[in-house]
Amino acid sequence: MVDKDEDLGAFDPNIPEEGPSAPPPGWLDNVHGYQGIGGGGDDNPLYPPPPAYSPQPEQDRNTSVPHVRVPTLSEDAAREALVKFVESKWKYSSKPARNLTFKDIKPVTVYRYRLETFTETRTSAWECEPYCPGQPVDGPQYGMSPPPWDVPVTMPQMYTDTVLKVRVPHSSFVKTCHKCHGCGRTRCVMCHGRGNKRCTFCHGHGHKTMHGKGQRCTSCHGRGHKRCMSCRGHGYKECSVCHGNQNLLHSIQLTVTWKNNVSDFVPDRQPDFPDKKFEKVTGDPFFIDQNLLVYPIMGFPDQEICDVSRKTISDHFSRFNNTCRILQQRQTIELVPLTHAHYSYSGKDYDYFVYGMENKVHTSKYPSACTIL
Ligand SMILES: [Zn+2]
Ligand SMILES: [Zn+2]
Ligand SMILES: [Zn+2]
Repeated sequence: MVDKDEDLGAFDPNIPEEGPSAPPPGWLDNVHGYQGIGGGGDDNPLYPPPPAYSPQPEQDRNTSVPHVRVPTLSEDAAREALVKFVESKWKYSSKPARNLTFKDIKPVTVYRYRLETFTETRTSAWECEPYCPGQPVDGPQYGMSPPPWDVPVTMPQMYTDTVLKVRVPHSSFVKTCHKCHGCGRTRCVMCHGRGNKRCTFCHGHGHKTMHGKGQRCTSCHGRGHKRCMSCRGHGYKECSVCHGNQNLLHSIQLTVTWKNNVSDFVPDRQPDFPDKKFEKVTGDPFFIDQNLLVYPIMGFPDQEICDVSRKTISDHFSRFNNTCRILQQRQTIELVPLTHAHYSYSGKDYDYFVYGMENKVHTSKYPSACTIL
């Protein structure tokens, strides 16, 4: 009795071994327009934008900012913020917050400076996909491929990070699959194209010696070999690159990346208050300035904000202008509310901070901590 499956495999010398999984160097040499992209590598060249796309800042230009009045927090609002805070902590009682006596409520002027630079970068790489007969091919016969920065794309909403992949026009062509050399299948490497493997139980003998007696191997039914599980006995597999289509459609894929690059700065005006807490709250953006390029702030009462504006603008320009296209910049000054409240309760003095438009509370000591009954 012969197991039908086991006889499927017959060594076929016409089925090639697997070729490289990526096109070898020189394989894609017939394409123009995108210098520096050879086939086969994982090269991903970054194209600097042409000079016409690089804005140049005007010399000695500055930006002035209107003054702003620092708002004050009322006793009621300060108390309400503290009550809300202690009620969110299970181990605190709200009784001291409701009954404390304020001694001083002091607003602290805190500005946050933010610079956003919205940039675009372009890189390209060869891509390939199985080619089906009849599928249209946008090749060089339709014209020259536009240079990387002339490929038309639709810009996303400003200041949002987005990645877009597009096929470069007229960059496509069809070529025989480099992995199977157009055969559509590759020889199975597990059984070397034979479709079967030597039986590991009887080491290919077809029988075993048990209790001094020769016995037919039950694993291979005496044949000495077993069907290759990897190719299911065929001796070959469908080509993993062209999926049996024999040909590949190659084209240049352009990757366009839009990124909002943000730098924040808050001058340290209150050493007792951890500055990191400002990152979690919003402020009042009383000054927003946007342009292709923005200019350093001058004449603002807080000189540190003027200095940091000059430095950050210059940093962003040197960091992004050579490799990216700067599409827009936005500088913002926010007034971030911060109030230092001092109070007494049961004859002892305490203090806390109320911060952010959200009126969040930061306190290192509170009368009833861990003493609630
Ligand atoms: Zn096999
Ligand atoms: Zn066997
Ligand atoms: Zn193939």
